[in-house]
Amino acid sequence: MPIHFAAHSRRRFLAQLAGGIAAVHSASWLEAAEAEQERWLLFSDTHIAADRTKVAREVNMAENLERAVKAAVAKGKGAKGVFVNGDCAFNTGEAGDYATFASLIEPLRQAGLPVHVTLGNHDHRENIRKGLREAGEQKVVLTEKQVSILEGAKANWFLLDTLELVNKTPGLLGEAQLEWLGKELDTRKDKAAIVMMHHNPDLKEKPSGLKDTARLWEVLAPRKQVKALFYGHSHTWKVEQHESGIHQINLPAVAYVFNQAMTNGWVEAELTAKQMTLQLNAFKEEFADNGKRRVLTWRS
Ligand SMILES: [Zn+2]
Repeated sequence: MPIHFAAHSRRRFLAQLAGGIAAVHSASWLEAAEAEQERWLLFSDTHIAADRTKVAREVNMAENLERAVKAAVAKGKGAKGVFVNGDCAFNTGEAGDYATFASLIEPLRQAGLPVHVTLGNHDHRENIRKGLREAGEQKVVLTEKQVSILEGAKANWFLLDTLELVNKTPGLLGEAQLEWLGKELDTRKDKAAIVMMHHNPDLKEKPSGLKDTARLWEVLAPRKQVKALFYGHSHTWKVEQHESGIHQINLPAVAYVFNQAMTNGWVEAELTAKQMTLQLNAFKEEFADNGKRRVLTWRS
């Protein structure tokens, strides 16, 4: 269930139910096809607790999100929007976590940047609705459906839902969602497809990531319009390429790291019709990849 926080200063986008389990958002601000490139700001794993002073693994998560939001607002001019790829909430997805999350991302929306959210294993489907309602949130599109598609000028973004059980580590897409994904990809062959989900692909016998990874590759690999797969979950920054040529990007956490050699932070993505350029904004400024631009060329 992706959640779309509309920007305050732009026209709200249209939400249309497209049959199946999808909501398709074809927004006026996504249709500026004349532009040479399209820029997006990518966050993951914010782990916000209701209490802004909460610290985990020596990190104040609210302060980290504030830092990312401030930097994104400063660099966000001309960007199409922000993604938060799951684990928005601290641990068990309490309603109060989402109220705090909503208040922390508010400057993005004030800056004209809509925020698109997927759910992770530390989120809770019902509580996010409750929390946002209690926070007096009126301008959030909460789709009833589990997944959605953002049709951009340079690429279509497919936002998936891998939340299986709250506060249990592995995730699952399930057959219905995989079938839906295949069908929706088949009707959009003209533009690059970028898939985003919380859990990392994981082919281990006892996965901590996505349990139906093998099935996901069966759907993605033969469909040549699929160019990139984004995920979070492991709190790791990593760019790889699947044997099919699909780029695999593990987004860093905005919150804490599990391994001190890793950095937290966020990522900028610039899309053209043929490639995507990524730039890591690491919170550990000495981190080797910090500020470097990495060009990922689309497979043909
Ligand atoms: Zn996480």
